[in-house]
Amino acid sequence: MKMILTGTGTSHGIPVIGCDCRVCRSEDSRDMRLRCSAYIEMPAGILVDVGPEFRIQALKYKIRNVSAVFITHSHADHLHGIDDLRVFSHTKALDPANPGNTETEGSGLAIYTNTKSEQDIRHRFDYIFTPVTEGGGKPKIRIMSAEGITADQPLCINGVEVVPVMLKHGHLDDMGFLFSERQESGEKHSIAYLTDCSFVPENSIELVRRNAGILDHLVIDGLREKPHSTHFSFEQALEAAEKMNPRNVYLTHITHNMSHVQIQKFVKDILWKFPGLKKSAENGFYVGPAYDGLVLEC
Ligand SMILES: [Zn+2]
Ligand SMILES: [Zn+2]
Ligand SMILES: [Zn+2]
Repeated sequence: MKMILTGTGTSHGIPVIGCDCRVCRSEDSRDMRLRCSAYIEMPAGILVDVGPEFRIQALKYKIRNVSAVFITHSHADHLHGIDDLRVFSHTKALDPANPGNTETEGSGLAIYTNTKSEQDIRHRFDYIFTPVTEGGGKPKIRIMSAEGITADQPLCINGVEVVPVMLKHGHLDDMGFLFSERQESGEKHSIAYLTDCSFVPENSIELVRRNAGILDHLVIDGLREKPHSTHFSFEQALEAAEKMNPRNVYLTHITHNMSHVQIQKFVKDILWKFPGLKKSAENGFYVGPAYDGLVLEC
């Protein structure tokens, strides 16, 4: 299983429009951050979130196949590239006399998310669900509930098991995802992708601990040094991360307050507070900020 982090920036992205700060002007490519998204390469073909830069990310990282999309929550920075899924679904006009006809068009691209996000998608992108008689240049999608998927009955997408991990993003219910694959040795290896959260409930931590097998990679929201009402700070992210026994930890959804190199140093300096993560780092694993284009392999 190979996941590419196609975006690791907060909702503004970096550089921020009109900002001349040192990070926004940085020439280090790791300081350029598109909006948060990830893609598990074929044969899985799993996309997590479809933000406003999805088209740019798809071209840059050569995303040519999407078998399923997982939406963490409905904030604009995770969803508003939805129209560009057209190319991965079917663009033909729906038959208004028989909108449920799937005989000739296929049934559309599956999007898994929670009830609140489904409501928001149907409301904001109502044109997608309104049959037209002409043209039809719009994505054909099927919204599927991810709420019923449990660790006992995980969803399987082309060999990758997917289990949602419930998170709190301020007061909003958000979904992280645990992606697992059984390797030839029989060992289960996993990547947990937990963006946009300010709290990981105890049962979600348990779920990851119990079902990950070997948690090779944990991608977790770490906005900035200072706390925030809806996002983990770097330190809060590390505190939650340590409880899940990961090998490598990558902070994502990062602001322009610090450069990639500064965050690396900041994390290194506070690692003594987290003995489990400190040990991982001493064993050669990575604990620090993610960056766009980072490839995580199990
Ligand atoms: Zn976000
Ligand atoms: Zn800036
Ligand atoms: Zn958000």
